[in-house]
Amino acid sequence: MHFYHKEVLDWHFFNTFAQNIKNDSKMSINIEKIREDFPILKKEIYGKPLVYMDNAATTQKPLCVVEKISENYLNHNANIHRGVHFLSQEATEAHEAARETVRKFINAKYAREIIFTRGTTEAINLVVSSFCRSQCKDGDEVIITQMEHHSNIVPWQLQQQDRDIRLKVIPFDADGVLQVDQLDQLITGKTKFISVTHVSNALGTVNPVREIIRKAHAHGIPVLVDGAQSVPHMPIDVQELDADFYVFSGHKIYGPTGIGVLYGKEAWLDKLPPYQGGGEMIKKVTFEKTTFNELPFKFEAGTPDYIGSTALAAALNYVSQIGMANIAEHEQQLVRYAKEKLSGIEHIRFIGNAKERSGLISFLVGDIHPYDLGSILDKLGIAVRTGHHCAEPVMTAFGIEGTVRASFGLYNTEEEIDTLVAGVERAAKMFGRR
Ligand code: PLP
Repeated sequence: MHFYHKEVLDWHFFNTFAQNIKNDSKMSINIEKIREDFPILKKEIYGKPLVYMDNAATTQKPLCVVEKISENYLNHNANIHRGVHFLSQEATEAHEAARETVRKFINAKYAREIIFTRGTTEAINLVVSSFCRSQCKDGDEVIITQMEHHSNIVPWQLQQQDRDIRLKVIPFDADGVLQVDQLDQLITGKTKFISVTHVSNALGTVNPVREIIRKAHAHGIPVLVDGAQSVPHMPIDVQELDADFYVFSGHKIYGPTGIGVLYGKEAWLDKLPPYQGGGEMIKKVTFEKTTFNELPFKFEAGTPDYIGSTALAAALNYVSQIGMANIAEHEQQLVRYAKEKLSGIEHIRFIGNAKERSGLISFLVGDIHPYDLGSILDKLGIAVRTGHHCAEPVMTAFGIEGTVRASFGLYNTEEEIDTLVAGVERAAKMFGRR
């Protein structure tokens, strides 16, 4: 159990949220009450109650996050860091308090190790660009996995335009389990960096990132962990993991779009050059020479998203009050239930069968195109994602074009899964597969 999450408790909200935590024999959280916090879940789509199962793409937002955004714009808005006036200082304090909330949430050592970015994608691009420009030379090697999101493939390939960096890939097996034992052969004297996703957004596989980090560190190689699909679903402790970099997106953890986080160990962030140039990231500018600001500002060029950061903090407080361990337990139960119920459907094929899995199920039924299946589910009010999920190499490995992906959040219920299963059965019948 990770006690640090309790420290994130914001006692202003405690009384409200205490009601959400109940000692039910089946579930440790009160889903009905939680659903009340998400007004969009009351929506009807084509006259049917919305069943939202596209949480891996983005989550819905609780009222406290939406209210934080409007409250900030209505009462506390001013550009931060440079102002002497009251509103600017108030907004600056809120932004820096949000940084501290993020620090506690992932148990980073220092707030200056938390860099606000636009999301996971920008955080990865920042590390890849700054690392390659300062640390890599022709012939160096970088290791990723076969189940990376495009955002952990393409930034490396962009660097290949400037230097001859070789990308090596840890493969997964037929169940979508990473072949971590192959890492020993893949690591050579030329390996400069290892960048891996914690949880696959296409397969749901949870990768043994701690083991990967241990192996990498034994060779002095830094590791970036893409936490886009793990931070929303389990307690994360970056110090315990010993990750050199850990990145995630606010919008996938009930926060707003346009804000994300790069955690980096101070020693690494000190060593890497800035990613973008502009205001905020400088100490002194002349036409001849510029000196850079200290951490974290060195990596935050331009006006930061101080509205987004405080709304993200509201989201992190919200999930912390419910408890990340409780959320993990609830979602694990949903995945087990969904797997069991979907298994009864004739010709269903699960893409990804790892034992260690989180938050989502990818599947196909017979030869029904995932797009057709998704479109029928949509008409029934069920929102799932279809396609390659920005992980085309995963689809290539399975010899398929895409999958149907049902991904769960803290507000999903077993009843909704029953609706999904009935919807898939109906679609299968329509296409003559039952
Ligand atoms: N990495 C993983 C594993 C993801 O699932 C996603 C989004 O789906 C991303 C990275 C990119 O996140 P964003 O688009 O928020 O930058």
